[in-house]
Amino acid sequence: MKILELTLDGLTGLLKKGFGKGLFHASALYREVYQRGNRDIAGIPEFKASQTFAKTLEKQLIIEPGQVVDAFRENDLIKFITQLSDGLKIESVLIPMTGRNTLCLSSQVGCRMGCRFCETGRMGLKRNLFVSEIIGQIFNARFVLKEKIKNIVFMGMGEPFDNFDTVMESIRIMNEQKGFDIALRHITVSTTGLTGGIEALGRLKMKGLRLAVSVNAPDDKTRSFLMPVNHAHSLQALKAALEAFPLTRRECFLFEYILIKGLNDSGSDAIKLAEYIYPLPVRLNLIPLNPVKGFNYESPSDDDMLRFSEILTSQGVFVVKRWSRGRSVAAGCGQLGLTC
Ligand code: SF4
Repeated sequence: MKILELTLDGLTGLLKKGFGKGLFHASALYREVYQRGNRDIAGIPEFKASQTFAKTLEKQLIIEPGQVVDAFRENDLIKFITQLSDGLKIESVLIPMTGRNTLCLSSQVGCRMGCRFCETGRMGLKRNLFVSEIIGQIFNARFVLKEKIKNIVFMGMGEPFDNFDTVMESIRIMNEQKGFDIALRHITVSTTGLTGGIEALGRLKMKGLRLAVSVNAPDDKTRSFLMPVNHAHSLQALKAALEAFPLTRRECFLFEYILIKGLNDSGSDAIKLAEYIYPLPVRLNLIPLNPVKGFNYESPSDDDMLRFSEILTSQGVFVVKRWSRGRSVAAGCGQLGLTC
């Protein structure tokens, strides 16, 4: 019984089917595993009167989050490497923010999207992660690194919509109140703009779940150069999918824009980007390029980044400048995969 792959409903169903037990025991077990990292079922108060059942369950319970084999720190930021049961490795990044740690999760081992500015893209796709391996990253952050997690972002290795059903099931699990209890509005799924995934997510109506899109260029020519996915999912198709997405009045999309000196950082790029964004409700994260092997471009100067940002702001775009964190441990945007 792989509990890290189960919603509370799923666990309740298994206990009912296998043992004739129900929500009472399932809730207690779920709480102990997800909130305390406890594997001692016989010691759980709700199991005191059912010790034979508890012992049988202990033998069947599988908790396989993967093994944390390395961790790198830059101030409070931690990048940790998890070795999976088949020996492959993934990276996750814990980003401290006052009182609310954010955990950047991987959804695949490698990635087949091939974005030029990204180390993971150079690895190619090795395989999709299982639900337990996605949930395992939170489990390890919580009970191995002993960190509390408030926010989740699917911005690690992989394109989440390329492993859609698994990612959605893992979101349902991390959202369980008896479990990690991470609110949907604290979970962000970031995509390169796979329009089918955006449409499928819209149909699920997971209210509050945040959608981020890696945009990175204001025109198809530059974007296709940076992100081959743009050949199949052009900027126009992407915008149409976003316009049809069921946002509530208070929600907005997060756009990510990696600024690259001389490639997508001119004044006219900023104007074109603002025109593209209008009238979508967007918060735009500007991120300076992090160094990546084999991609011979540079990040812009702070002044250039400021100038680009000011043009966007003057056009009515809400901009957040994200100065790079985690570069020294290759944990910055686009750098994951170097240590796998
Ligand atoms: S940026 Fe994301 S989608 Fe693109 S190659 Fe890297 S991991 Fe894949």
